[in-house]
Amino acid sequence: MQIIDGKEVAAKLRKEIATEVEQWMAAGHPRPYLVAILVGNDGASQTYVGHKEKCCNEVGFRSTVLRLPEETTEAQLLAEIAQLNADPEVDGFIVQLPLPKHISEQKVIEAIDPRKDVDGFHPVNTGRMISGLPAYLPATPDGILELLRHYKIETAGKHCVVIGRSNIVGRPMANLLSQKGWDCTVTLCHSRTQNLKEVVRSGDIIIAALGKAEFVTADMVKEGAVIIDVGITRVKSDKTKTGWKLLGDVKFDEVAPKCSYITPVPGGVGPITIISLMKNTLKAARKEV
Ligand code: NAD
Repeated sequence: MQIIDGKEVAAKLRKEIATEVEQWMAAGHPRPYLVAILVGNDGASQTYVGHKEKCCNEVGFRSTVLRLPEETTEAQLLAEIAQLNADPEVDGFIVQLPLPKHISEQKVIEAIDPRKDVDGFHPVNTGRMISGLPAYLPATPDGILELLRHYKIETAGKHCVVIGRSNIVGRPMANLLSQKGWDCTVTLCHSRTQNLKEVVRSGDIIIAALGKAEFVTADMVKEGAVIIDVGITRVKSDKTKTGWKLLGDVKFDEVAPKCSYITPVPGGVGPITIISLMKNTLKAARKEV
């Protein structure tokens, strides 16, 4: 069994992107510029945006975080988005989700110019991705592809079982792995799937993205399977300094001995997702989408 080290892969890719940024600027182009909009005081969102800012510095991007108060109206947020859409200096921008309840996430996503939608959530980008056209790929599925690529994990003809059908993880993941080049036979499972255990047990590659701590147990996994654990659930712990620990969707201790590869939580999928945002921003600067 080999642990998939997301931190190590992310560090390697960060270096590669930094080199590309240097070359891009040496050719006379402006520094790629990413803006993040953060509405309200959600603790996890603040942490994620902080990580994104740090990563921008590391790869050599210019970055700004627009911090808006919780009471920001939908109209005010849409006006900020319109300004960023029109600003020629801004290559790409993201609106950190979740948004306060009084703002429609869908309206916000659709207000972003698809050419600057480096989160890849706009329906135009989703449509381009599904059609196999150049697109900004959503960060988590694209990060998982990077991990599979880095570890040279065979996917062609393999049965991949994706658990969870969200628009940001499960559904695009299932689509991407079914495309030419990855060539998996994909089963997309969700909360209404029948005989889930049997279906998961038939998977050569299992991608758990349902957000239920330690849901996938050893009896659901066949010998030698590849396990990608996307889930992050914060639970109380008396063994850590913070009083909290993170659990994945996979019961790591009992599943790990059975599989060929597995991502830990934390340190697996999490670190690599930010890299995809950096890749998308560089693509945006180069006007590749
Ligand atoms: P979501 O809640 O939007 O979607 C969960 C999906 O799981 C739904 O489609 C639902 O049908 C399915 N599901 C729920 N219960 C199920 C069950 N018992 N059996 C089968 N399917 C079931 O969640 P999401 O945004 O896709 O995130 C999933 C998890 O991944 C969460 O824990 C989230 O925190 C984590 N996540 C991690 C990263 C990362 O960078 N590592 C990124 C995004 C999300």
